Amino acid sequence: MNLELLTKQFPREQIKSRQGKKGMTYYYVPATSVIERLNQALNFNWSFTVVKEYIFENEVVVLGELKIGNEIVKQAFGNSPINGSIGDALKSATSDSIRKNAAALNVPAIFHTPSNTAEQQGNNQQSSPQFPQQQQQTDNPYRCSECNAGITKQIHDYSFRTFNKVLCMKHQQEARKQAR
Ligand SMILES: [Zn+2]
Repeated sequence: MNLELLTKQFPREQIKSRQGKKGMTYYYVPATSVIERLNQALNFNWSFTVVKEYIFENEVVVLGELKIGNEIVKQAFGNSPINGSIGDALKSATSDSIRKNAAALNVPAIFHTPSNTAEQQGNNQQSSPQFPQQQQQTDNPYRCSECNAGITKQIHDYSFRTFNKVLCMKHQQEARKQAR
């Protein structure tokens, strides 16, 4: 596994955004870019399987499973509103699940930014949506305070703002669960 490549920031032009729940803006990398990243960093030695699909009135939810070799490393739910066909919604929920699985491996595929925070702080550059910036990848000073995993500056900044702690994506998820 090439960790450095796995966790490397995506170029800004590959990052998309959409409005999420509760006033959050949801920044994400398309599943095709995530798949390409996994192929490169894991040398094609991974697979993704849809375990379950749930179709609700307005939304579909997909449970997907990521394996490296024969080992299940992660299961994650992806969801999508039904705006057109159920097939399209299932496809984008599957993409979402791939992203969430990859994020657990510290692939920087998903970011949430509270819209109100961005508005409050106006043009303050530090608080603008955390797009990747050009940065040296050689000497990465940003590390998770829980597990010491290398993280990006964006994840560092976001985590510090949100949790007052420097956490990788995985430990942010855990912090979020505990906060509920
Ligand atoms: Zn961590």
